[in-house]
Amino acid sequence: MLRLLFSARPGQFELYLSHLEAALEAKGLTAEIGTELPPEAVDYIVYAPSGPLQDFTPFTRAKAVLSLWAGVERIVANPTLTLPLARMVDGGLERGMVEYVAGHVLRHHLGMDAHIVNPGRAWVNVSPKLARDRRVTVLGLGALGAACARALAGLGFDVTGWSRREKAVEGIRCLSGSDGLAEALDGAEILVTLLPQTPQTERMLDAAALARLAAGAALVNPGRGTVLDDEALLAALDEGRLSHATLDVFRVEPLPDDHPFWAHPGVTVTPHIAAETRPETASAVIAENIRRMEAGEPLLHLVDREAGY
Ligand code: NAP
Repeated sequence: MLRLLFSARPGQFELYLSHLEAALEAKGLTAEIGTELPPEAVDYIVYAPSGPLQDFTPFTRAKAVLSLWAGVERIVANPTLTLPLARMVDGGLERGMVEYVAGHVLRHHLGMDAHIVNPGRAWVNVSPKLARDRRVTVLGLGALGAACARALAGLGFDVTGWSRREKAVEGIRCLSGSDGLAEALDGAEILVTLLPQTPQTERMLDAAALARLAAGAALVNPGRGTVLDDEALLAALDEGRLSHATLDVFRVEPLPDDHPFWAHPGVTVTPHIAAETRPETASAVIAENIRRMEAGEPLLHLVDREAGY
């Protein structure tokens, strides 16, 4: 029998236990699953860094760490972890992100705010242009970025995507590399960022990058807060070069009470709710990875420590 340690924030174990048991059973695996097992007896660690486990050294027998989160920067930064690490790629998480991105992109595309808050009862009957005439760029074409890019293209938007390595996604103009970044940003009217937090993506959206966007462009960032230069964004909003930013992720979370983003009329703050790992679909992914490891097959969604994501 396998032994699985579950370490995440309080309350999560109760949500996951029955789904994990069912998913493992569906793969023909039996396991003891607990939050407090003797470290030397543990085979797999289902993990989020918000839980109690921070030191991996006593887990001498463990074969892999299976992250509950898609963003793994805090796990990669843990020097005690040398085991193979798989990040979370979950259909439920993906759907959540697609819905969040589609909703906020449509808000900016349709100019909904002007009608939702209209105390002066202004009758400005100018129809928005069609999505096919709206240039949307998605930075990051991974599991989430590619799904969002496809969904936006499905709504008719003119979508460009950008990734580290060259990529092809049907219906999307795909670019890569630093020249590709400049081209992806040039004239984009709505920018969606779904990049991971790595040293290379730190402040990628600085003043120069934001200056490439179309006049009055909007930003939607559900990726990571470190990708953005906060001061450069505030300056671009204050000068009217950007019309609005919808931000779900921040350098410090929860966003401190005195951060200017809270009070700025050009910023919508959402509290890191864009997409959540769903116990049922995520348990199936974890069980499949355990089956693979036990069968000597490569893990799915293995983190590249060098690249940091
Ligand atoms: P992923 O599959 O690892 O994809 C990351 C994408 O970013 C890939 O296309 C990758 O390029 C690209 N990339 C990475 N570093 C780059 C660089 N230096 N230059 C250019 N492109 C770079 O990740 P994912 O599952 O799509 O998730 C993306 C991020 O969303 C996560 O890292 C996490 O931080 C965030 N997230 C947020 C929430 C939320 O609720 N707000 C929920 C889940 C995830 P390649 O394709 O060439 O590798």
